Amino acid sequence: MFDCHTHVFGSGHVGGAALAALKRVWGEKYEMKALPKDNLECVKDCEGAIVLAFDAPATGMVVPNEYVAEYTLKHQDKLFGFASVDPNKWDAPLILEHAVKELGMCGLKLAPFYQNFYPDEKRYFSLYAKAAELNIPILWHQGTSFIPEGYLDASRPAALDPIAREFPSLKMIIAHMGHPWTEECIAVVRKNKNMFMDMSALGTRSWQFYNAMVIAMEYGVLHKILFGSDYPFFTSEETKESFSNINKLVEGTNFPRIPEREVEKIIQRNTPEILEIV
Ligand SMILES: [Zn+2]
Repeated sequence: MFDCHTHVFGSGHVGGAALAALKRVWGEKYEMKALPKDNLECVKDCEGAIVLAFDAPATGMVVPNEYVAEYTLKHQDKLFGFASVDPNKWDAPLILEHAVKELGMCGLKLAPFYQNFYPDEKRYFSLYAKAAELNIPILWHQGTSFIPEGYLDASRPAALDPIAREFPSLKMIIAHMGHPWTEECIAVVRKNKNMFMDMSALGTRSWQFYNAMVIAMEYGVLHKILFGSDYPFFTSEETKESFSNINKLVEGTNFPRIPEREVEKIIQRNTPEILEIV
């Protein structure tokens, strides 16, 4: 089991609009969940994980590349650090190059909702070109969130289609299957060979999760779903548990079921090999 979507937050990394919204939504649980007790806790149940930096000053979340690089380098055998760069910075491609070449990071995390930018605007394409040149994948938070200040209209999965067409060899992952636009996400992923999606953080919305999986099955793209948890908000074990029970919702009905072997294939997927980060 490999977890393609985990976070670390150090003290002071979450502030402003993000902190206010997290406290509102998660309440007391926020403090507990947001600060991992142990460095390896995020991967105690799995063989490895991608750990994401987060450069989103627009909404108050800044987890520096250096912080994540230091964290992952201590556990090089298990952890893969993805840099994050605010695309609004004029030197974003150079920051990315530094993170990969000097800090040893192996991917890029972008999140238009949190970073307040429209991904299909041409002025950001130099950053994607740099990722393609460095041969690293981009993991996109391309879906909704609960921060009032975030750009919801920048967060549709279809906004990534022009990028996929311009950079066909660039590997891209849409996090959380682009919720609530899971069908749109599936359409974008199906047509673009190097696009994938992760099923992290969907477990608590069992109807949406089940429907997303059924639609992915009907479109024939289950093989493009990567396993992830969105730790520390959910652990990989919790995610595996909810995923393994996905058909419980329709037990005793004629609704379609996701074959157990397909669920198991996603849980066992060799994500580092697919993303070529090993
Ligand atoms: Zn996340």
